[in-house]
Amino acid sequence: MKDDVLRLFFALGCPPELTEAIATWRSSLNVHGRPVAAANLHLTLAFLGQQPRARVAQLQGLADGLRAKAFELHLDRLGRHRNGLLYLAPSHTPEALLELVEQLNNNLRSAAIQLESRPFRAHLSLLRHCPQLPIDAPPSFAWPVSRFSLFASEQNTRGTHYRPLHTWPLRHGDLD
Ligand code: ATP
Ligand code: MG
Repeated sequence: MKDDVLRLFFALGCPPELTEAIATWRSSLNVHGRPVAAANLHLTLAFLGQQPRARVAQLQGLADGLRAKAFELHLDRLGRHRNGLLYLAPSHTPEALLELVEQLNNNLRSAAIQLESRPFRAHLSLLRHCPQLPIDAPPSFAWPVSRFSLFASEQNTRGTHYRPLHTWPLRHGDLD
């Protein structure tokens, strides 16, 4: 990729304790497939794709203006996409998560930043090329979400690496 272009996305980076719990549980599953690196576990909020590096400052300003609340996410559903992607998802998507995504999308759109048009479906990718949904009991992970980040997706000799460029806190309580 050219130096002046970055592959960007906003996401919830999985916190270290949860990453460890999910990775341990995942290795106990009786499944085939290529595990997503533990350091890369995340939940994508908005995918921007290739953007000029010079746009990062504008994206930061745009996310600075968000007023979104902290929330708790329950990852309690194991799913498999037709393309073989095994993922964890919430069986109920919290309103605060939908609001965060909507605010992000609105701000991006009003800054005329091109977005991928796939509808938002909250999920955390676990394994690729998974031939079938494991019959193991679904898990239940509680994720207290109190921040979100802008990441650059980069390739290195070990594969894909997500570099956090900036992280924003979400608001606790009802204070404005
Ligand atoms: P790789 O593609 O290198 O195997 P990856 O899919 O994890 O790894 P990226 O393709 O850079 O890395 O994607 C980063 C994040 O954005 C992932 O959560 C991915 O699912 C999501 N994503 C990628 N392409 C799109 C898209 N076209 N629309 C929505 N989300 C996307
Ligand atoms: Mg990809």
